[in-house]
Amino acid sequence: ERRAALAASSGPGATSDGHRVPLLANVGGPADVAAAVEAGAEGVGLFRTEFLFLDDHRTAPSLETQADAYRKVLEAFPEGRVVVRVLDAGADKPLDFLTPADEPNPALGVRGLRTLLDHPEVLRTQLAALARAAEGLPVHLEVMAPMVADRTDARAFADACREAGLQAKAGAMVEIPSAALRARSILREVEFLSLGTNDLAQYTFAADRQVGAVSRLQDPWQPALLDLVALAAEAAREEDKSCGVCGEAAADPLLACVLTGLGVTSLSMSATAIPYVRAALAQHTLAQCERAAAAARATDSAEEARRAAQAVLSGE
Ligand code: PEP
Ligand code: MG
Repeated sequence: ERRAALAASSGPGATSDGHRVPLLANVGGPADVAAAVEAGAEGVGLFRTEFLFLDDHRTAPSLETQADAYRKVLEAFPEGRVVVRVLDAGADKPLDFLTPADEPNPALGVRGLRTLLDHPEVLRTQLAALARAAEGLPVHLEVMAPMVADRTDARAFADACREAGLQAKAGAMVEIPSAALRARSILREVEFLSLGTNDLAQYTFAADRQVGAVSRLQDPWQPALLDLVALAAEAAREEDKSCGVCGEAAADPLLACVLTGLGVTSLSMSATAIPYVRAALAQHTLAQCERAAAAARATDSAEEARRAAQAVLSGE
């Protein structure tokens, strides 16, 4: 039955009763675009632009180099949505010319948006390159900042986007618990949210994402993480704005149903996961997803949450 559903899997993401959940791809650059199109991605939900910066650790790529790479990704989704994340340097993605070398706790130090606010010329060049790349294209460009902690961060990023003259929605990633707890205040400044569940788990459980010994706490089925997802999604719904997930959690078909039930409005994942997630969503109604989400949140561990959701969705 599962294989048949997978074979039939094509078209836009939706529950069996037609509730739309756009399925988007995570890409690292133009090389990933073909696989995303092939998998039927409706756009890009996370373009990790730091890959462009890894070739040369001494300096940022020029405006032209960046604009060329961005344009190749934008052109692949002519009518679609492409969400570009501005440079997320530091911690697990260090860059010599930007990342402070002497921090005792790099994951808690100057990284993500914090780095860009310390180096405004890097952010300005990247936003100008994005503006140039999008010129004349019908694509729906959205630009988001990593590691937004609060409204002050969100405002600084939205201001930078406005100053760059970018015709794009500005958004904030929710990767820090404070951002989920105060999502409503962040939404005063930006037009959408995107949950980065990898970092959100790391910061919620004080468990380094690079340390295998604490991987139990990196499990996105942890009920505390589901609670934070629900908070952000509820705030976005009240403000009539979108709240997607672009962390690894979105690639787990069962969890994708639960995230939908929590009110998440789009799911972005590696291209290979898209057919599986599409097939899973198509087998359940939105109401079933909501019941599975409630059942998962009512438990006390990742393992129980997974089992509870499975039980609801398999009709046990
Ligand atoms: C995340 O943290 O969940 C995320 C999507 O960003 P990255 O994995 O690139 O840090
Ligand atoms: Mg992250």
